[in-house]
Amino acid sequence: MFKELPAQLIIGPHEMALSYVIGELAKVFCVSGGCKACVACKQIRSQQHHSITMLAPEKMYTREELSPIFSRIVFLQPADDQHIFIIQKAHCLTPSSGNSLLKLLEEPPAGYSFFLIADHEKLVLDTIASRCVLTQLCHPTVVQNYSHPLLKIFIGDVKVSHIAFLKELETHLPTEQQTTELFKGLLSYYQQIYKQEVKSNTSNLVTQTLVQALLSMLAHPIPSGSSKLFWKELYLRLFFPSTSCANPAKNWSTSG
Ligand SMILES: [Zn+2]
Repeated sequence: MFKELPAQLIIGPHEMALSYVIGELAKVFCVSGGCKACVACKQIRSQQHHSITMLAPEKMYTREELSPIFSRIVFLQPADDQHIFIIQKAHCLTPSSGNSLLKLLEEPPAGYSFFLIADHEKLVLDTIASRCVLTQLCHPTVVQNYSHPLLKIFIGDVKVSHIAFLKELETHLPTEQQTTELFKGLLSYYQQIYKQEVKSNTSNLVTQTLVQALLSMLAHPIPSGSSKLFWKELYLRLFFPSTSCANPAKNWSTSG
């Protein structure tokens, strides 16, 4: 028998929040609490589990885009089943589309639960946020840094080509001070993901390697005038770990 979950609002950078929610879903649907190997775990990761409905808006949520919830919820859930709705980008709910959810969030029908994901708590309508249990995944100032175009490359799902990366680096080259800030944000991002993975028993080698690579770069302070080289090294370390130099500081001093 599933226990009733209140509506949850998860605040954090999108990928991080989604990974958190996936960990929580695995606890609900995997008999081993998130083994990563069973059919349920695989379906959750590939977003194909029949008991999960994922929603994402084109721009701002329209009522039409929320209609999968209303057409699903008319069915009574069998006593032993749980259906979970994931409302991504909950900050894109408008007063009009959001209002249609208020009653459901306050008292979800038996067997139905909601996870909402948003970048910032302040961007979510009060009427929505006040009906959810809030989980803040990292400090708001850290979250702000994630909107930097360069950082998006390092936390996005899509691998960016070397050329596209260099172009982005030329256009948005951060100062040394910004580089330090952004780097800390990046480290905290992957540390959070790693912690969540360990907690939900879904830890994987990729995250562990990323955190180790970041920590090893933290050990070498950025020489002045080297922020471009720093980002190039970081890119190689994270995406092509076998080809990068063992000592980044040494590499920075050689060429631009
Ligand atoms: Zn499993």
